[in-house]
Amino acid sequence: MSSVDTQLEELKAEVTAELPPDISVSDVTYEGPELVIYTRDPKRFAQDSDLIRDLAGKLRKRITVRPDPAALSPAGEAKDRILDVIPEEAGVTDLDFHEDIGEVVIEAQKPGMVIGRHGATLREITQEVGWTPEVVRTPPIESSTVSNVRNFLKQERDDRRQILERVGRQIHREQLSDEEWVRITTLGCCREVGRAAFILSTAETRILIDCGDKPGSDDVPYLQVPEALGAGANSLDAVVLTHAHLDHSALIPLLFKYGYDGPIYTTEPTRDLMGLLPLDYLDVAAKEGRTPPYESEMVREAIKHTIPIEYGDVTDIAPDVKLTFHNAGHILGSAVTHFHIGDGLYNVAFSGDIHYEDTRLFNGAVNDFPRVETLVLESTYGGRNDYQTDQADAEEKLIEAINETHERGGKVVIPAFAVGRSQEMMLVIEEAMRNGKIPSMPVHLDGMIWEATAIHTTYPEYLRDDLRDRIFHEDDNPFLADEFNHIDGGDDERREIADGEPCIVLSTSGMVTGGPIMSWLRHVGPDPDSRLLFVGYQAQGTLGNRIQNGWDEIPVEGDRVGRSDTMKLEMDVKTVDGFSGHADRQGLENFVKTMNPRPEKILCVHGDERSVQDLSSGLYHDHNLRTFAPKNLETFRFR
Ligand code: ZN
Ligand code: ZN
Repeated sequence: MSSVDTQLEELKAEVTAELPPDISVSDVTYEGPELVIYTRDPKRFAQDSDLIRDLAGKLRKRITVRPDPAALSPAGEAKDRILDVIPEEAGVTDLDFHEDIGEVVIEAQKPGMVIGRHGATLREITQEVGWTPEVVRTPPIESSTVSNVRNFLKQERDDRRQILERVGRQIHREQLSDEEWVRITTLGCCREVGRAAFILSTAETRILIDCGDKPGSDDVPYLQVPEALGAGANSLDAVVLTHAHLDHSALIPLLFKYGYDGPIYTTEPTRDLMGLLPLDYLDVAAKEGRTPPYESEMVREAIKHTIPIEYGDVTDIAPDVKLTFHNAGHILGSAVTHFHIGDGLYNVAFSGDIHYEDTRLFNGAVNDFPRVETLVLESTYGGRNDYQTDQADAEEKLIEAINETHERGGKVVIPAFAVGRSQEMMLVIEEAMRNGKIPSMPVHLDGMIWEATAIHTTYPEYLRDDLRDRIFHEDDNPFLADEFNHIDGGDDERREIADGEPCIVLSTSGMVTGGPIMSWLRHVGPDPDSRLLFVGYQAQGTLGNRIQNGWDEIPVEGDRVGRSDTMKLEMDVKTVDGFSGHADRQGLENFVKTMNPRPEKILCVHGDERSVQDLSSGLYHDHNLRTFAPKNLETFRFR
């Protein structure tokens, strides 16, 4: 018998001994990081709200209880009784029964009402019918991405369970090595922005953190070195993804093409965004005539292998590594990732991309940990002069820019990234209209913006507290304001709007490198009363950057930059700074200064040469910290 089987036998005996004698344990097994207990007495389990919690505390494991199939009421009968238990106001939209694991997935508009106080309603359901309820939110705005991902996972349930069981045995395998060391190897995003990828390794375990592309370049992370995939794709134990931006996530599906077959740990919203952004990435590559690095099938593989983790949950991901995610304040689902290695041996936190102060969309990044010896810190705006306009000033300027254009009867066209910046703009504009600071006018959302917004409203728990509360009350959901219009009628609709009344257009791509923004420029571009308004960073080499610097010609045919036919841009061009998903220099310093506990070492990454050097020397001189500005392919040994 393998050691995992022995371990499970022992656990089964221990669980049986801990539980009251009238609760049977038919089996215990691992699924991913969780210990699953099968019982013929699920109703009895549900009577005592403390049982599972006490057991989890005692065994130091995450526990799921599943009914033995013999203990279940038939699905048809159970359905009526479940609906009787759940208050009508919960707005149940779907019940989905999975006989194999005795689970019923309840989709509801108000999941909180299905859960009940401290889970009381959930327990009542199990007591009534024996089934284990699992609750998900009905997206307040229909999202094809969310429903595609959910349907896909439903359809792949059997495969997924096999994956989870395999991963579970990997995580709980007996430790092979008694050596103690911890290393980090940089595979990308050092002295550059893009292709984020790091290897965290111990004598026992190898973990890849992020695997992104580099915008505007074909450079990919150094995945082929022995420290990474050089020893085979399955020499990795786990992949951890900080957030869905492509410079962190684009090449995760590529790992599956190389034969990786293990878990991806990330948050649930990041998983769903993975069902949107990489597909768009493949689309763009195809349109630009580049060979995409992988097929869309690989994106599905990545989603199938994803084990979602909530902020604050301490999760075993290897025999010697525990992972915890914390809010990073950067985009939906973004996480600061904390690794606890060995039994108190060492602790490393990767900031991912962070925003330290609260924004309209998110609470500020968490920098409070039980222990941290080394911090790997993003440095995008780490340069000594990288201080951003404050948020309130930026909003005033935005409002002013919109009003000026409206007064002369023009349209405001804002190129914006689908995820993050667009929703922030929507919130500023909605509030300004509600308070009469700008006149009410249509706000057209083009490209993936609507879809990305729908994903945001599906996960209000990940948004800033007060915004979350507003989304919970449908009448107050700012994203559902009447002014917002989803462009779904293609170029005819755009032309009609361009010929019509003053309005605001938010459209992708954010750096004017293709997508529907090209159409808007063709339609609205010749109108000198209208305005092109930049609210986000325009990278070198993009059309957005050239227009910002005075270029006034845009290609007229196709959605591609670089065609020979051009059109003169007559609309005026303005930039409003201060909207950013990244902490500025002050924010980065504050993150470190107020960090609890104070780290011993900091690696400054994810910034250009000057930014990482400035931040590294600034933190060393002002805060007396041991700092480094590594290059790609360096390895640091910490223990
Ligand atoms: Zn990012
Ligand atoms: Zn990034």
